[in-house]
Amino acid sequence: MRLLATLTLLISSLFSLGFRWLQADVEFVNITHTVVFGERLEFSGAIETRAAVVEVVLFLKPFGADTQVIPFKPAADGTVNLTYDLENKPLRAFTPVDYWYQVKLESGVESSSPVYTFLYEDNRFDWQRQDSATFKLAWATTGDPNFGAALQNSVQDSLKAAQAILPAALPTPVRIYVYPTAQEMQSAARLAAAPWAAGHASPDMGVILISITPGPDARAEMERQLPHEIMHILEYQVAGSAYNQLPTWLLEGLASNAELYPNPDYQSVLQKAVDEHNLLPLSALCQDFPRELSGALLGYAQSGSFVRFLIENFGSSGILNLMNRYADGLNCEAGVQAAFNSSLQLLETRWQQEFLGLNAGLTAWKQVWPYFLLAFLVIVPLGLSILPILRKRQEIRGTNDER
Ligand SMILES: [Zn+2]
Repeated sequence: MRLLATLTLLISSLFSLGFRWLQADVEFVNITHTVVFGERLEFSGAIETRAAVVEVVLFLKPFGADTQVIPFKPAADGTVNLTYDLENKPLRAFTPVDYWYQVKLESGVESSSPVYTFLYEDNRFDWQRQDSATFKLAWATTGDPNFGAALQNSVQDSLKAAQAILPAALPTPVRIYVYPTAQEMQSAARLAAAPWAAGHASPDMGVILISITPGPDARAEMERQLPHEIMHILEYQVAGSAYNQLPTWLLEGLASNAELYPNPDYQSVLQKAVDEHNLLPLSALCQDFPRELSGALLGYAQSGSFVRFLIENFGSSGILNLMNRYADGLNCEAGVQAAFNSSLQLLETRWQQEFLGLNAGLTAWKQVWPYFLLAFLVIVPLGLSILPILRKRQEIRGTNDER
């Protein structure tokens, strides 16, 4: 009886070994990766098999981007040493990346490794971290033992301020990286070809970059930058993939209104533009802000003030309605018309009168003068062109009369 049991065990063990042998045509051993941020990714390990290998491919899948297919040749003993050049083919900074190997054998059998994952994080800094259910905070600012606590408090206040304007839920967790200087933060964006051009949030990934230099202004900077960038994340939660189709004045205007410590320059820049009759038409702020600094600053100041006007008149529900109209695909003017039953230009005039104290007659004239100009440009050349004809007719009539 015992012999039978031993035999059964032996046979089943052999069977399972054999089965595993068939399964394990290819083994992926010690698979690892190293990230040198902005420079390269290094993939290493070994692919072990007794069979003849026809092809080996590395698949690289950054979050929200296409999968890259990278064929390569391992060494004769199966060792993998593969370098991915991030300078020429940059990945988005802070993106999660999946990767896996696939081996094709001469027999036609294909074998894939498990999927490995890493976060393409800026690892040039020694980040200090604090995680909660809502936020993963990382800061590289040193010298202030209370920095983390201040950051934690400021983040909570910022979320409240942003949600008071735009009642939307945060995706969790939101990852916030605090750089010690603006230059270092910019270098992260530059090295990684990140789409940070319009601010420093990557709302689809729930990532925020800010820069806080330690010192007396640190708290004020936190209270300006954090609510601003958190608002961009909330905006994405409402608009989804239509986020980039929303007018710049709306995205940045909402973000400016969330700032607990607003940029003190906005008010003076706005007043100067009012005094000098240099306000930008809102229709020019639908796509983008002017690139030069003073124009950009005025763009932020005007957008903030106009959106404040909209919030006071139509409330958060009105703003949500407007965002949903844009998410439906309406353009800058049509979205306003559909949400508020009023043209953008009419609301702009009301805002200029009620918020900026601009004279009603002057604003009305500013709206109609292009039509006068157009009429002038059409009528004058038309008049000049028919004048010779009229003169000729008169001359002909004159000669007939003489006859
Ligand atoms: Zn912004």
